[in-house]
Amino acid sequence: MTSLNAPEPALRVRPAPAGTPAISFIDVSKRFPTAEGRMLEVLRGVSFDLPSTKIVAIVGPSGAGKSTLLNLAAGLILPDQGEVRILGRNTAGAVDWGRVGYMFQDDRLLPWRVALANVTLALEAGAMPAAERRRRAHDALALVGLAEFAKAYPHQLSGGMRSRVALARSLVGEPDLLLMDEPFSRLDAQTRATMHRELLRIHEMRRLSILFVTHDAEEAVVLADRIVVMSARPGQVRATLDVTLSHPRPGTEGAAALVGRLRAMLEETEETKR
Ligand code: ADP
Ligand code: MG
Repeated sequence: MTSLNAPEPALRVRPAPAGTPAISFIDVSKRFPTAEGRMLEVLRGVSFDLPSTKIVAIVGPSGAGKSTLLNLAAGLILPDQGEVRILGRNTAGAVDWGRVGYMFQDDRLLPWRVALANVTLALEAGAMPAAERRRRAHDALALVGLAEFAKAYPHQLSGGMRSRVALARSLVGEPDLLLMDEPFSRLDAQTRATMHRELLRIHEMRRLSILFVTHDAEEAVVLADRIVVMSARPGQVRATLDVTLSHPRPGTEGAAALVGRLRAMLEETEETKR
């Protein structure tokens, strides 16, 4: 086919039709080569959706392929079989990074940069003028309650505050989708509970879609609209639970019952591994 018109830019973003899930995993399998030259089967036939503007928690034992699922959602790796769709587009095409935020288990703050400069970092790949980057970073720090600590270095901040800086950095690009890999697992219980309230507040305000990996049943129940329970490796979906309990959930009977149920399922998963 010949055309005299300029080709359509490949990266032009079309809004996904209403009702399109933020993420769809469709029968996804993934294997990795081991150092001994064998293939390690990490995920087998995984299917689930993250509905738009909802929070989905993935729970499962260590090695179940939870981080691999996030890497697939980010388009950092591709499935061997099946398909991963993000905001309606197959990740085999270009992923629109501007719409995706990522928060990791370790906060990955640069020790030689103040909090503000750690947040602007997330915007430095683009063409945004420096003054605009700083303005947005200030807004993101204010959003997580750290406006007063913009000039503090990471070593001057508590664990909870560092976690807030990392959260601000993942939000500063105003993503539609947030991928979170056990982001609060290193915090003490009280600080973690505070971060859960913060995350729920920001989620409510920004209408984000969030995929949240955890190995903690309670964290999943406190946060998620849907919980995907993974089996031990090769990771398969053992159950998908929709959670309709109202917020705030900590300390409620409904939450305690669901945590108990989830823990029992996870223990069974551990036992089948032995
Ligand atoms: P989880 O987050 O549930 O603990 P991961 O997704 O990190 O599990 O890893 C699942 C398995 O896949 C682990 O055994 C890990 O060593 C292996 N794995 C993950 N990524 C790679 C990779 N890029 N190359 C080889 N092996 C990998
Ligand atoms: Mg992991």
